[in-house]
Amino acid sequence: MTTKTPKKRRQRSSPKASNENTFIVRLAKDLSEYADVAVEAADASEAEEIVTDLLSKPSILDDLSYEAGDDREGPYTCDSWESDGADQVALTIRNGVPIFPPAPTKLTCPYCSYDGEKPTEHGGTFRYLADVTTWREIIRLKKSKPNPTLIIEGLSDKYDEDEEKNERIECRACLREFPIPAGLKTDFR
Ligand SMILES: [Zn+2]
Repeated sequence: MTTKTPKKRRQRSSPKASNENTFIVRLAKDLSEYADVAVEAADASEAEEIVTDLLSKPSILDDLSYEAGDDREGPYTCDSWESDGADQVALTIRNGVPIFPPAPTKLTCPYCSYDGEKPTEHGGTFRYLADVTTWREIIRLKKSKPNPTLIIEGLSDKYDEDEEKNERIECRACLREFPIPAGLKTDFR
């Protein structure tokens, strides 16, 4: 944080000043979920200030695609550094205004660039993944060496009323998982 009075934000219409660089500000939520945003600012602390200011206004940054947390804390800024131009970011903030990237018109794997067109050895296309909570009865805690053993019912059941969590997409070419691209809606048939 700077000790001097925060600068007044430049007007949206003014040209980009040459002393502005792009900084990456990392946002943390629930201590374990992160999103990186690119901010054009004079220095890293101004970049963090801009993001903190936007976070204080509800709904402006609500659409960032965080991985699911349990909303106990945050989001808040936790780190910042100057961008080398190759950072993957959730959005760019220019003159203090968040600019969301347009929603993609095509699904493409960010790791292997697979587009779902041709079949792969895993069947092809993409899968929508989500986590559900399963439950099993615990029968008892049995004394055993070297550690006691929890005896658990083998068959599991799932909590049907539980919301699915951690929604993401699996590429059926490289089998890696990536977040649902920002701006896409979902429709279940
Ligand atoms: Zn892939």
